[in-house]
Amino acid sequence: MSRPELIAEARAELDGLVVAGRLRTRPVSSAPVGRTVEFRQPGGRKVLINWATNDYLGLAHFLPVRNGAARALRRAGAGAGAARLLGGLAIHRQLEQAYARFVNREDCLLTTSGYQANLCAVTALASDPEDVLILDRMCHASTYDGAKLATGTLLRFAHNDVEDLERQLARTDTARRRIVCVESVYSMDGDEAPLAAIAEACARHHAALVVDEAHALGVLGPGGRGLCAEAGVTPDLLVATCSKSLGSQGGLIAGDSALIELIVNRGRPFIYSTAPCPAAAGAAHTALAQLDRHPEWPGELLVAAARLRDGLRAQGWDVPTGRSPIVPLIVGSEAAALALAAKLAEAGHHAPAIRPPTVPEGACRLRLTVTRAHRPSDLRKLLAAIGSRQ
Ligand SMILES: *Cc1c(COP(=O)(O)O)cnc(C)c1O
Repeated sequence: MSRPELIAEARAELDGLVVAGRLRTRPVSSAPVGRTVEFRQPGGRKVLINWATNDYLGLAHFLPVRNGAARALRRAGAGAGAARLLGGLAIHRQLEQAYARFVNREDCLLTTSGYQANLCAVTALASDPEDVLILDRMCHASTYDGAKLATGTLLRFAHNDVEDLERQLARTDTARRRIVCVESVYSMDGDEAPLAAIAEACARHHAALVVDEAHALGVLGPGGRGLCAEAGVTPDLLVATCSKSLGSQGGLIAGDSALIELIVNRGRPFIYSTAPCPAAAGAAHTALAQLDRHPEWPGELLVAAARLRDGLRAQGWDVPTGRSPIVPLIVGSEAAALALAAKLAEAGHHAPAIRPPTVPEGACRLRLTVTRAHRPSDLRKLLAAIGSRQ
């Protein structure tokens, strides 16, 4: 195929996305992204209140966390320089030990992203053609991509449906190993998994359990330790990320030492990718220490989330019940979601439309995330801009 043909085919595919209202582009903020986001426009700069960040505790801009990044940068340089097995740094190990202590597990492995952490967890456990992975239908793309990279069969169960999970477990009782993967808080709806019932079903069927706490670390559970801690569940592997409420970057996998050592030896995404840059690890390490020192932060965040949910309900919006700072405003079609996002941008709010394949067909939405950095007046302005449900 000639390059002009390749380009013409790419253009045709992109045109199809435009027609479907599904083209994605890369917004570029002209200032650091935090409570606000700033765009340069022909008429000048436009500062919008940011409702699209996962930096739930506002730690990406918190001075001690930035100082933690700077300290690590000064000590260890801008980049790690090599994959972990060739050139690991003290700050990497300190972060692993701090998270393992925080969630009371034997050991932890730091990866370069949460995406990579799920690839590692899934591929390390499902490594034989006789293995069966059983994923909640709504699991994050990184877990599904891990399943593609893993060896064995992939099954799904209906979202948060323990009875359906039981059926999948019952019909795979002869497998060498079953691995069930769930999230504690789902990233698009902000709803919570029935972790105690899921863990009980896994134990009864001798299946392994992997729980991704990406949106629960720093948000839910005692002192922000996550929903597993709250539910008294000890999964075989506990996955989290430094990129959300820790305000930095990097993936975390915690569990028993033997399983962590197995991932060190078998987790290709970990083995063949450069270790996180020192500044990212330093920032996450300080953020975790700050969270440990401020067990009241998650509760304050949940109060703000409840205010947003209550405000929307009072205006006639059908907001799913839940506690998390992820508040979906489901409007249906691509066009409706894009129109509402444009209306809010006009009124000074950044809340981009979320469309398939990130969410199911017909469930286009604005995914609002409230953070500890938002002010009460931000919330009032947002509610006024959204208005009543027509
Ligand atoms: C964001 C997210 C990840 C990926 O984490 P990154 O650190 O951004 O790569 C994994 N799982 C879930 C549920 C997420 O929401």
